[in-house]
Amino acid sequence: MSLDLPSDGCRSTPVLKERGQREVFCGLTGIIWLHRKMQDAFFLVVGSRTCAHLLQSAAGVMIFAEPRFGTAILEEKDLAGLADANAELDREVGRLLARRPDIRQLFLVGSCPSEVIKLDLARAAERLNQQHAPHVRVYNYSGSGIETTFTQGEDACLAAMVPTLAPTAARDLLIVGAMPDVVEDQCLALLSAMGIGPIRVLPAHRAGELPHVGENTVFALVQPFLGDTHAALIRRGARHIPAPFPFGEEGSTAWLRAIADEFGVPRDLFESVIAAPRARAQKAIAAQAAELRGKSVFFFPDSQLEIPLARFLVRECGMTAIEVGTPYLHEGLVGPDLDLLPKGPVISEGQDVEKQLDRVRAASPDLTVCGLGLANPLEAEGFATKWAIELVFTPVHFYEQAGDLAGLFSRPLRRKAILRKEAAE
Ligand code: SF4
Repeated sequence: MSLDLPSDGCRSTPVLKERGQREVFCGLTGIIWLHRKMQDAFFLVVGSRTCAHLLQSAAGVMIFAEPRFGTAILEEKDLAGLADANAELDREVGRLLARRPDIRQLFLVGSCPSEVIKLDLARAAERLNQQHAPHVRVYNYSGSGIETTFTQGEDACLAAMVPTLAPTAARDLLIVGAMPDVVEDQCLALLSAMGIGPIRVLPAHRAGELPHVGENTVFALVQPFLGDTHAALIRRGARHIPAPFPFGEEGSTAWLRAIADEFGVPRDLFESVIAAPRARAQKAIAAQAAELRGKSVFFFPDSQLEIPLARFLVRECGMTAIEVGTPYLHEGLVGPDLDLLPKGPVISEGQDVEKQLDRVRAASPDLTVCGLGLANPLEAEGFATKWAIELVFTPVHFYEQAGDLAGLFSRPLRRKAILRKEAAE
């Protein structure tokens, strides 16, 4: 496809690699959006009261719904290795599944305490699978803060499912990554209107709808943090369609075009399908970009969405990126976005938070995108900040959400301008 590539993109920019103290949520956070998506799944966190509090306070949603996550609490005696945590876990799972026949997929989610006592959840999942198959499939993955940043929880969850997907020889398109249902429907409608199909989605709503995978499967990712899932699918013989991520009008068009090219969709059909939503996206972005144009942005590493979002803000909203930090840089995934991001910003991977705070103070950007832990102190120092976690909880993919995506960045700038005005009056 013809994309308006900058003469010099960021793919060859030397990456500033930092390994120091990090300020990010752990991978348990992903349960908050995954449990909404996978309607017959239950996430059982094997962890401490701290983990339970994180989920309850961050999710706070279980008043009207039947809960679909819980915590098997490891008490102090377990942590001291005095109790047989495995026997207790089996009992908890047995009770849960007897009470809740609607559960068809059970995820044992590891945490810091289960890491510390080296509880082998892979073996536990195997054992429990034998007991509860075929009605329930038991998986395990780690959401521990020792090992994962907050979006890696989804990656670990999906990667755990891939080896168990049934084989197929069909040439299916697989869309990988959790999106809100309304956004997923928009994506599938656009692709179907181009005559592309059959299309499968991971994660699926229910165990019975899980995709099959094989050497003829081609897959596209909608989230840039799915490195392990990408590797697991490649191991199953599937082929990745590399593309910029579907954020903003340009990203959405490029992502759809990459898939359309793979399936031989004629250009005029492609253009006619995207024309109206694309025009709506351009108009909605223009309305927000007025406040963003000419402003500078600094990304702390947090969600792994940083590189595609920097590309969107620079190219479609007229911002200047000073530093684009990401917890991990997977070139196979974000390479096409790096190609589009004009050379200039520092690209950093990992974090040494004190050094990065020094850099943000020296650069004094108009907008800083960071985690909750850094946002409050930076606001107190006079910086306008955007919480990275909101970008994961808000529908931001594809054309109809492109204006809202730009709005997430313009709002803190508007708020700061209002506060400044009030202070001056
Ligand atoms: S997994 Fe670790 S970081 Fe996450 S809530 Fe539990 S104790 Fe805290």
